[in-house]
Amino acid sequence: KPASEKFVYDFAEGNKDLKELLGGKGANLAEMTNLGLPVPPGFTITTEACRRYLDSGAQPTALRDEVGSHLAALEQRMGKKLGQADDPLLVSVRSGAKFSMPGMMDTVLNIGLSDDSVHGLAGQAGDERFAWDSYRRLIQMFGETVLGIDGELFSGALEAARNRHDAASDVELSAEQLRELVEEFKGIVTRETGRDFPQEAREQMDLAVRAVFDSWNGARARLYRRQERIPHDLGTAVNICSMVFGNLGPDSGTGVAFTRDPASGQQGVYGDYLQNAQGEDVVAGIRNTVPLAELERLDKPSYDRLLDIMETLETHYKDLCDIEFTIERGTLWMLQTRVGKRTAAAAFRIATQLVDQGVIDEAEALQRVNGTQLAQLMFPRFASEARTDTIGRGIAASPGAAVGKAVFDSYTAIKWSRSGERVILVRRETNPDDLDGMLAAEGILTSRGGKTSHAAVVARGMGKTCVCGAEELEVDTKRRQLTTAAGTVVEEGDTLSIDGSSGRVYLGEVPVVPSPVVEYFEGRTHAGADDADELVRAVHRIMAYADRMRRLRVRANADNAEDALRARRFGAQGIGLCRTEHMFLGERREMVERLILADTGSERDSALTGLLPQQRQDFVELFEAMDGLPVTVRLLDPPLHEFLPDITELSVRVALAESRQDHNENDLRLLQAVHRLHEQNPMLGLRGVRLGLVIPGLFTMQVRAIAEAAAERRVASGGDPRVEIMIPLVGTVQELELVRDDAERVIAEVEETYGTELHLALGTMIELPRAALTADQIAESADFFSFGTNDLTQTVWGFSRDDVEASFFTAYLEKGIFGVSPFETIDKDGVGSLVRDAVRAGRATRPDLKLGVCGEHGGDPESVHFFHEAGLDYVSCSPFRIPVARLEAGRAAA
Ligand code: ADP
Ligand code: MG
Ligand code: MG
Repeated sequence: KPASEKFVYDFAEGNKDLKELLGGKGANLAEMTNLGLPVPPGFTITTEACRRYLDSGAQPTALRDEVGSHLAALEQRMGKKLGQADDPLLVSVRSGAKFSMPGMMDTVLNIGLSDDSVHGLAGQAGDERFAWDSYRRLIQMFGETVLGIDGELFSGALEAARNRHDAASDVELSAEQLRELVEEFKGIVTRETGRDFPQEAREQMDLAVRAVFDSWNGARARLYRRQERIPHDLGTAVNICSMVFGNLGPDSGTGVAFTRDPASGQQGVYGDYLQNAQGEDVVAGIRNTVPLAELERLDKPSYDRLLDIMETLETHYKDLCDIEFTIERGTLWMLQTRVGKRTAAAAFRIATQLVDQGVIDEAEALQRVNGTQLAQLMFPRFASEARTDTIGRGIAASPGAAVGKAVFDSYTAIKWSRSGERVILVRRETNPDDLDGMLAAEGILTSRGGKTSHAAVVARGMGKTCVCGAEELEVDTKRRQLTTAAGTVVEEGDTLSIDGSSGRVYLGEVPVVPSPVVEYFEGRTHAGADDADELVRAVHRIMAYADRMRRLRVRANADNAEDALRARRFGAQGIGLCRTEHMFLGERREMVERLILADTGSERDSALTGLLPQQRQDFVELFEAMDGLPVTVRLLDPPLHEFLPDITELSVRVALAESRQDHNENDLRLLQAVHRLHEQNPMLGLRGVRLGLVIPGLFTMQVRAIAEAAAERRVASGGDPRVEIMIPLVGTVQELELVRDDAERVIAEVEETYGTELHLALGTMIELPRAALTADQIAESADFFSFGTNDLTQTVWGFSRDDVEASFFTAYLEKGIFGVSPFETIDKDGVGSLVRDAVRAGRATRPDLKLGVCGEHGGDPESVHFFHEAGLDYVSCSPFRIPVARLEAGRAAA
């Protein structure tokens, strides 16, 4: 059969590199099987089968037959048939896409149980209670995920049974009581769906497979994919896995484990274990788990075997792995493994630990971290002094410091956050329906569940602060309050502070302090110091790997000496964008007004003469801060009305004055100017190079200020200014030529006066489609190009950013028209193709053309990779993003 017509793979046929086809879970089950680890036999239905099903709405006929023959082989091997009355083979039907999507997709255990086979199972296991417990679980999971019945109906009935029989937890229910519960559950199914719970095993299996396929397009799954930027057309695989049972009594159980602490990276025994339990019990927080280390006492042989396997897996995957396992009457079974999620801090620590252990090299270490994680580590955190007003402590599930008002349901979280409140979502435990609320919250606090609970796993993925399992806190979602061990009641709307790094919960607002990583970048702490934080050392080393590896240089967008100095500390190798409009604000605004209002040449000249020394001084300071490094100064860009008073305010002022017969000549002239300069689409109006060409003297004043500042630095202070003058919004080479002629004349005058050569470069921004399309011509007059990807995105898409982001971007993101805003990550296909073409055309004209980018994309991880591939010389971004850009530039080259 051609590969694409093979829809089913036995676990023994796959391997870990087939994630695309078998999903992450299936590929890793196959890998473990082939490593000789104890995996219950089974097979995987491919993502291709899912795609076919979703495209056509029906399962390919070949699939049914292929599943049939694999099932037959499995039955043969296990020596029993699926659902066989006297000794049933039971299976789980488990989803598993290429990317792990925690809690998103649905799994059904114990498929194959029926009114008949439940007796067979009881007889084989010698345990009535176990058989009825398994059957009630099947109906519950099947009812919820396959038949779409409200889960509360089942959990409510279970809770009622527990109360009725005085059982503290489900393990205390007897066989007879569970049998009654099964009857009750079956009644729920009949009532809710109008048909009886299916008794035929193969039908159960087929319906479950179909439900897994369908769940790929469930609302929750779509939201998660959008959030994680996972394409919608991958589809999911389905794993059919023979059942092993952790609910066969106290010598059985189920657990999760990590080969290292996913929060700190420390090596050791991390995980949770639950005796006499099945599947999701561990993560659902229904009963309290014990730390994995306890297993040594409970079942030493299984514990030793598990540790052994964990070592095998870490050596094999060369990374932190997480594991799901089950012990059935003293026999250990592996049910899942994958390269584990981890916190940002752990990612950096683990990467350097693995380098030290000789497991991976520096280039590989760079692939184990990313700029998004580094950005997370640069968040501020709570002041560290021990505080007395701790109201509780839970598990530090996802780091950060979050402060906000307590809310007890997702709806309120969303509503309040939309109205600008910061909120902490407080729940007993979270489930997938809380996803939107979690997104809206600053942080998440739960009273149940461990490090592997839904809240913890999802919050870590989202990079949200989370404290979970704060058991002393009594959460009452109905009354919207939580009660502390000391009896303090926290109501909805009270402020809470939660520390996702220590697990502490505080009442009230706790002050936050900067992150140690930022302190390190600022140079206030040193990675080499004896007491240096392990994390800081790890970041220091990874940054060194990245700097050694990268080809792209990294510059900063900075307009003043203070920002420039910070940028330098953060590793900037120059300034890629100094906006001069910020130098025209504040007290100087009046002079700019005079310039705009000037009727005569002499009025204009006097305004310009007033601005010149001030501009020069700004530049002197900036060039001093960046001595020896390139500084790109952009001439004035924004439309003039931005420097004038607001049209409405001014109209009112003038009208009031008129009514008082109180003429203010200046206000009247201003109002005329405001009317004259008012534009319908200022983004596309009189701005950029157009200003320079219609306001005589403006650009030459700026060029003179720049040149004189450079000359002063060079002559008077012996400095090394490396200045590049950049003309914005050029659409055609003629514009650039005109500005260039004037600029060169002024520069020559200044050089003559100071008796020095300045070597000023003159270049342009490429931020209009026409500039990109005629880059070959423009390069004739430009020493460098800097791609202004913000404006280029606006003009290529025809989006006015301020207007579109708030109005319809949500709809576009929801409809999947783009997975991420093109203002956040560069649109590689559209805007990116113009960039690539302009690079090629520009270099064809002028091989030594210097190329950079100064839009916000310069600090976006994915975009940095694109700019690396497009062959730019540097990216420029805001000072705080510089470490991220350095790291990603290194990763792109590694
Ligand atoms: P998820 O992707 O949500 O982790 P899984 O498919 O891993 O879902 O299954 C959910 C739970 O059921 C896990 O704890 C897993 O270990 C358990 N489980 C799945 N298949 C089996 C099986 N064949 N025997 C016993 N437990 C199983
Ligand atoms: Mg799992
Ligand atoms: Mg621009």
